[in-house]
Amino acid sequence: MAVAAAVAVPWAGCCRSVTGRRARELEDPRHMDWDAVFAWLRHSPAGGVAALIVGLALGSFINVVIYRLPRKLSVIRPRSCCPACGRRIRPHENIPVLSYLLLRARCRGCQGRIPLRYPIVELLGGLLTLLAVRLAPSPETSLVWMLFALALLAVVFIDLDFRIIPDWITLPGTLIGLLWALMGAFPLRDALLGVVAGGGGLLLIALVYQWVTGREGLGMGDVKLMAMVGAYLGWQGALGTLLLGSLVGSLVGGGLVLRGKGTRLTALPFGTFLAPAAWVVLFGGQLLWTAYLSLFLG
Ligand SMILES: [Zn+2]
Repeated sequence: MAVAAAVAVPWAGCCRSVTGRRARELEDPRHMDWDAVFAWLRHSPAGGVAALIVGLALGSFINVVIYRLPRKLSVIRPRSCCPACGRRIRPHENIPVLSYLLLRARCRGCQGRIPLRYPIVELLGGLLTLLAVRLAPSPETSLVWMLFALALLAVVFIDLDFRIIPDWITLPGTLIGLLWALMGAFPLRDALLGVVAGGGGLLLIALVYQWVTGREGLGMGDVKLMAMVGAYLGWQGALGTLLLGSLVGSLVGGGLVLRGKGTRLTALPFGTFLAPAAWVVLFGGQLLWTAYLSLFLG
């Protein structure tokens, strides 16, 4: 496997001059130098490909989550089946993106069409994992960012399909974000303010909207989603996400009205717009910061 061969590289290459416990650790053949693995994933082209491959596989799992979680099915068992004919999907038919192309987007059993959505979610999983690995400041942060970004990926499509955002994603997601801040990786004050500003801000908008129009426009799922977003991005990031998500959502809604595909009252899945807005704030903010630093500090 490409991943196994690739991961073996950092073991071989860790021979810096270090002393004490660290040196003894490095001499131990069972020891894996995670800093070297992370540096390799982060800086080398082969490491980037490895991160992408891992991300494609995670994207494949997110496809399972999107299909099963709203239907209250286990995301672990049974193995994946064709939703049309129930045929078990063999491991070699389950390779991200590649199988879709080799099968020419058709099930081997019933010739039913495999939606383009599947490879798109896999590719997004790959891209988000790559961004998390390349842009996060530390190995631990890249893992947390990856979890957050992939949770948002599931939200995009579950909200689009079912108009719900499962608590099974947002509540553990918020908890992990706060624990992460509690461990000192992100200012706890910012994370808590983020939860309050994100969740509370949207709740306020929802209540005002309901008071003015007499209709329920936003669900509690959106409120909990924004609380989760705030735990990772702080209050500034949560407000940025709200602004960007609302802006794109209104543009799309307006476009649908203009094309006669909806009315002003057509309910749009708000989470489908908020989650990508949170990606932009998470990774885009970091990219802008990196560009800024390289521009002024060389
Ligand atoms: Zn089938």
